[in-house]
Amino acid sequence: MGKNVLIVGTGLGGIATALRLVKRGYKIHMVEKHNQAGGRMNELKVDGFRFDLGPTFFSMSYEFDELIKDCNIKLPLTLKELEPLYAVNFTGSEKSYYIYKDLNKLAEEFHNIEPGFKKSIDKYLASAGNFYKSINEIIIHSNSKSVTDFLLNLTKVPVKFAPKLFYNMWDEVCKYFNSYEVRTIMSLVAFFLGSSPFNTMSVYSILNYTKLVHDGYHNVEGGMYRIIESLVKILETEGVRISYDTEIIDYKTKNNKLSGFVDQNGNVWESDIYVINADAALFRNKIFKRNKYNDRKLSGMKWSMAPFTIYLGLNTKITDIYFHHYFLGNNFKEYSRKVFKNAISLDKPYYYVNLLSHLNKDSAPEGCESLFILCPVADLRFKPHWDDKEEIADNIISDLSRRINYDIKSKTVARVIFTPVNWQNMFNLYMGSGLGLGHNFRQIGAFRPGNYDEVYDNTFYVGSSTVPGTGLPMAIISSKLVLERIISKYGPLS
Ligand SMILES: Cc1cc2nc3c(=O)[nH]c(=O)nc-3n(C[C@H](O)[C@H](O)[C@H](O)COP(=O)(O)OP(=O)(O)OC[C@H]3O[C@@H](n4cnc5c(N)ncnc54)[C@H](O)[C@@H]3O)c2cc1C
Repeated sequence: MGKNVLIVGTGLGGIATALRLVKRGYKIHMVEKHNQAGGRMNELKVDGFRFDLGPTFFSMSYEFDELIKDCNIKLPLTLKELEPLYAVNFTGSEKSYYIYKDLNKLAEEFHNIEPGFKKSIDKYLASAGNFYKSINEIIIHSNSKSVTDFLLNLTKVPVKFAPKLFYNMWDEVCKYFNSYEVRTIMSLVAFFLGSSPFNTMSVYSILNYTKLVHDGYHNVEGGMYRIIESLVKILETEGVRISYDTEIIDYKTKNNKLSGFVDQNGNVWESDIYVINADAALFRNKIFKRNKYNDRKLSGMKWSMAPFTIYLGLNTKITDIYFHHYFLGNNFKEYSRKVFKNAISLDKPYYYVNLLSHLNKDSAPEGCESLFILCPVADLRFKPHWDDKEEIADNIISDLSRRINYDIKSKTVARVIFTPVNWQNMFNLYMGSGLGLGHNFRQIGAFRPGNYDEVYDNTFYVGSSTVPGTGLPMAIISSKLVLERIISKYGPLS
């Protein structure tokens, strides 16, 4: 008889783990606090408009391919590779830079401001690529047995890369590029980790390498949520049951073993094995009440930016904007220093805009547009109250209207705003931090909350809050790493 696994959470990490395990003969039941699957990779529907709630693209599509191959499934999805990857506009300028994966075209974009760009980017990417190759198997795709094991693995990385641990991404790009614009654009990936280039280790230049050298960025026909929908359909045909609106709030033990989780209605969920896809640090704090993760310690950890998100249904088409567009200011250093700790500055917002309806026509009614704005802000430790959300949204929308010369407000027929409070409450994200724990040295590898429980040997963790880190491809790699843990203990059952 197959072993029972209870998975707490239906984010991409939980879903990928369920698939891998069910294909190996395990019986899976999933519980989810939200009313539909996907976690942060969710979908919002308002008055005939559809939006990707959070993620709007993914890199490293070969990690998806690995999952599909491992589970021997076919997904009815059409991936769309983005070229250009995105566009960047700096305030005060009408020009947007288009970030092409084709490096000759990219060099052409920068020829006025960064002579010699092609030579510099080739050198920069060669260095990032060599580093990526040296850590891919032994760090990113590896389960450490202990801190010592992790540190021993690090010693296998060529010593010439050691300094990368000690300077930040901004310093790294400054070694290769001269102009403010190119430095800013090349270090922007730090924000994809929910941080700033001034406090992100230069090792994360590997994200520029995977984006520009590997297979770029992808979207999916119909929107990102089609990925979740198609995976859930397969889970259902495999007999996986999902109980929604079910939040785990407590646990039970028997003979010092975890014997079940308790939901908000007092129901007890028993299983042989438990996999937690909820935030691995916050779950240990809230549910298991572990001292190592007490309130003071959680608050002292480095958390990534919180999202302030605006979803607008417009009764018009917008043409003067790329569907994946960043709008930045001219005070990048000052902004980066303050954005994660101060209440949002109303006068100089930095934000990202996505027009899902440019790529996916059926996400908005005929002649209309679904426009998504993501503005990184301080988490709830630094700005607990968001009564000013309408005012903040208005300011961002006015700024965008000015920059694209288009009166967005008068064309808005649907409007939803999510503050960090919403993000916290929807998915149990610590203080509304959108990308979870940050990636400083003390929060990566064996120093990140582990993917196995310290106390209960039948309990594991998966997702971006455990190893290897945040983002969709990492959540998939995380499912592979937790599978290895489970299989090495219980074996494949079929
Ligand atoms: C605004 C935003 C934009 C982003 N954009 C991108 C992007 O473009 N590309 C990219 O690669 N990544 C992006 N990310 C990051 C990406 O969304 C995450 O890294 C990824 O989706 C995390 O998946 P996960 O499985 O680890 O966790 P989650 O998606 O958080 O899933 C965890 C699930 O557990 C549930 N849960 C929590 N606690 C409990 C409980 N006690 N009981 C029951 N259920 C519980 C939650 O409701 C949730 O459904 C973005 C994130 C945000 C917030």
